[in-house]
Amino acid sequence: MPNLLNGKTLAATLRAEQKQRVEALTAKGTTPGLAVVRVGDDPASEVYVRNKAKMCQTLGIRSEVLHLPAETTEEELLALIDRLNQDPAVHGILVQLPLPPHINEARVTDAIAPQKDVDGFGKESMGALLSGKEGFVPCTPKGILRLLKETGLDLAGKKAVVVGRSNIVGKPVALLLLAEHCTVTLCHSKTKDLAAVTKEADILIAAVGRPRMLGADHVKEGAVVIDVGINRLPEGLVGDVDFEAVSDKAAWITPVPGGVGPMTIAMLMENTIEAAEAAHALRQ
Ligand code: NDP
Repeated sequence: MPNLLNGKTLAATLRAEQKQRVEALTAKGTTPGLAVVRVGDDPASEVYVRNKAKMCQTLGIRSEVLHLPAETTEEELLALIDRLNQDPAVHGILVQLPLPPHINEARVTDAIAPQKDVDGFGKESMGALLSGKEGFVPCTPKGILRLLKETGLDLAGKKAVVVGRSNIVGKPVALLLLAEHCTVTLCHSKTKDLAAVTKEADILIAAVGRPRMLGADHVKEGAVVIDVGINRLPEGLVGDVDFEAVSDKAAWITPVPGGVGPMTIAMLMENTIEAAEAAHALRQ
């Protein structure tokens, strides 16, 4: 059996430290505040937003959930973002995606002030990540890197293969691995002979959204396998990796659920606390 990279346990450890940071900041007069904006009635978004607000409450972060109707116009949403950008009690702003199709997601995420962009999806945050400058790193990729560091392995020089090239997972995780001096390959739906590429990986990241698509034939003996996928099947949540089959080959593997998911929310809390600490320092 491989070693389990347990995101739930790691997130719980981080939680204790985060709670102390929130308490220290609150005692100095700045209570970290996160505004979460949801537009429309996507059921998965409702669960994600509720979980984020619950975690804020656990840590003592002030959270504000702004739920707008599906008919909200882009202009109305941009006006709300503008108001939140100006509000000194709000340190982090998160717009839950997806937005209804009549709203341009990029225009909205780009409107969030970079110092409040705790999801890291705005163009300034993305540009900072690309060029190795300071900025908020998207939560799921940041959580993946934390999990990888738990293995204690030296990442430099390792062959990392990322399957999936989305702006929120695949591309940023590839950039983070590059910054750790991995040799990175990004795969996508047009990649030819995927298994031949993934079998070379010392570190394999699956971020596709297809249940159990990566099996034993895709994995090298002794690889570290991070499964980002969340697929809802009648039998429950499953990842993009066939956990049972791959467990015989991998040295380390994340479970689904309980792997990357809890780390995503932990990193959102961390980014929010960082944003509040930076705002507090500016006021001194
Ligand atoms: P997207 O749908 O945005 O991207 C999927 C990527 O997979 C695309 O780049 C696509 O390629 C690629 N792909 C699709 N089919 C294949 C294939 N047959 N072979 C190789 N690549 C393929 O998804 P996200 O990045 O947003 O999410 C990926 C998964 O991660 C989902 O299950 C999502 O639910 C989960 N997720 C989990 C999070 C967590 O906290 N655990 C957070 C965010 C996402 P192309 O670009 O060519 O279309």
